[in-house]
Amino acid sequence: MHPALLDVQTRIAKAARLANREPDATTLIAVSKNHPPEAIEPLLAANHRHFGENRVQEAQAKWPPLRERHPDVVLHLVGQLQSNKADDAVALFDVIHSVDRPSLVTALARAMDKSGKRPPCFIQVDIGEEPQKGGCAVADLPALLSAARDLPVIGLMCVPPADVEAAPYFALLAKLARDHGLAGLSMGMSDDFETAITLGATHVRVGSALFGARAQGGAA
Ligand SMILES: *Cc1c(COP(=O)(O)O)cnc(C)c1O
Repeated sequence: MHPALLDVQTRIAKAARLANREPDATTLIAVSKNHPPEAIEPLLAANHRHFGENRVQEAQAKWPPLRERHPDVVLHLVGQLQSNKADDAVALFDVIHSVDRPSLVTALARAMDKSGKRPPCFIQVDIGEEPQKGGCAVADLPALLSAARDLPVIGLMCVPPADVEAAPYFALLAKLARDHGLAGLSMGMSDDFETAITLGATHVRVGSALFGARAQGGAA
């Protein structure tokens, strides 16, 4: 029993019902960045298996021991990725949500060829025109998708602007995905995952609603 997990799962199911979608059409990713293994263990004990981290180095330190005991964990990279960490990211993560520029596409393609491991990828879109958050400009999406045609791209991801209604941004991301024939939609965080689900999210990335507030200095 994990009360916070149960609460989030219940809210996911309710939002799915409202939108006439199956509750299991959306994967809940527990974003465990800045939280120690002791905070992750209760979720593993409650049989939760999808986790997200935003830094390669932090994940490298935390996850190998946890995975030894739970080999069925699915690890998602949700934070910005430097090209020089592409090898490490491909080795460690099962899904990469933050592919956002041609140089990173090249680095990931090379890392995948070298390792033979091909984790599914999302293209991150800078949906609110906030370049500091990463993501490719909406106008650059067609060119980036074409550059990434040799990567296993399964969908689009976004982090909309804080403190404004997220729904229009989610709707735009869903439209872009539809236009490009992509089924995956990684959108929605603790404050807005229900809205994201009603607009078609296939993956929601939830941190604080599951783990409580993060430690200081832990911005995305
Ligand atoms: C931290 C983070 C999340 C989770 O945010 P919460 O508001 O704590 O749910 C989701 N996505 C990304 C990219 C993040 O960095």
